[in-house]
Amino acid sequence: MKTIPLFKPSFHVDECLSEIRECLEKGWTGLGYKTLIMEEKWKEYTGLPYAHFLNSATAGLHLAVKILKDRHGWKDGDEVISTPFTFVSTNHAITYAGLKPVFADIDGTLNLNPGSVVSRITPRTRAIMFVGIGGNAANFPEVREIGRKHGLKVILDAAHMAGTRIDGVHAGHGADVTVFSFHAVKNLPTADSGMLCFSDEESDRMARRLSWLGIDLDTYSRSLKDDAYKWKYDVPCVGFKYHGNSVMASLALVGLKYLDEDNGYRRRIAGWYAGALDEGPELSVVRHEGCESSRHLFQILLENREAAIIKLNRHGINPGVHYRDNREYPQYQEALDKCPECVRLSGKVLSLPVHLGMTEDDVERIADVLKENG
Ligand SMILES: *Cc1c(COP(=O)(O)O)cnc(C)c1O
Repeated sequence: MKTIPLFKPSFHVDECLSEIRECLEKGWTGLGYKTLIMEEKWKEYTGLPYAHFLNSATAGLHLAVKILKDRHGWKDGDEVISTPFTFVSTNHAITYAGLKPVFADIDGTLNLNPGSVVSRITPRTRAIMFVGIGGNAANFPEVREIGRKHGLKVILDAAHMAGTRIDGVHAGHGADVTVFSFHAVKNLPTADSGMLCFSDEESDRMARRLSWLGIDLDTYSRSLKDDAYKWKYDVPCVGFKYHGNSVMASLALVGLKYLDEDNGYRRRIAGWYAGALDEGPELSVVRHEGCESSRHLFQILLENREAAIIKLNRHGINPGVHYRDNREYPQYQEALDKCPECVRLSGKVLSLPVHLGMTEDDVERIADVLKENG
């Protein structure tokens, strides 16, 4: 019996090795060189004006929130409306920056419900953090509009959205800042890295300084000049060690060439699933509408999820759950009835395997297991 994992990254091994070989032969595996090339290629690919390559999306989300806070004079404890239905990085980033995640509810798209977002706005609300679950941009345009109307910053956690397009443009346009993940099992897999895309130059400049311990890049480049002050650079603030490196960027540069083709195949897998599954009161499919989704995930809602997981595991198929309600974790605890749809949907949601090694037969096998009784 062939086992089918939930995720399995594919790499163009020879191309990756030859990019990495260039780093090794040049003697440059760190910040600069391929990281700068990747930033240029990502801007070209997405049409976004700024891009800074980091060691993870988690680091990017932290810098996104911190820089907005610093630039706009937000106070500790000011509020960011966020979703409880996400990977914990999203809400940790708000917490790292000393701000408070205020949870709004989701709807059947698994993304934030625009009406619930409006109901959470208080005089201390500063921003909205939106996550496009599984690559789905549903509700994002409405939430972006709510942000604009209420003078709130909009942060897009686009960890699942590499390659998602909305009305023909890449996800991220219209947000104040967007963060992508190139984690080992995301759509553009490296091992660990991410991209922080601000919409303005000053924030991008601050991100570059903060991602490298606060070192002032202008005095650093001056220090590279051949004079007696080569050793001298300024450190005007306490930054972090968050920047990416040229080995990760090598993997990203190769992956980017194939991203659209790979996502196209993911959408085919989603189509096969939608055709093969029997929808009804026991099972429904979460649709990605109003966008060309990267299809990081294919999710269904099940009345009896735990029985389905046992059945699938018995057949060597490994599904996943994205996500557990973050309010079940002690640091985000609050009365669960504040977001009833999140509670309901996180108890039913199941992610079925989506990766480039899968065939239509695999999808049918998975659908057949789900149809089995008992
Ligand atoms: C994976 C993920 C992140 C974090 O990405 P890293 O690159 O691993 O730090 C953030 N948000 C969401 C929704 C994710 O799925």
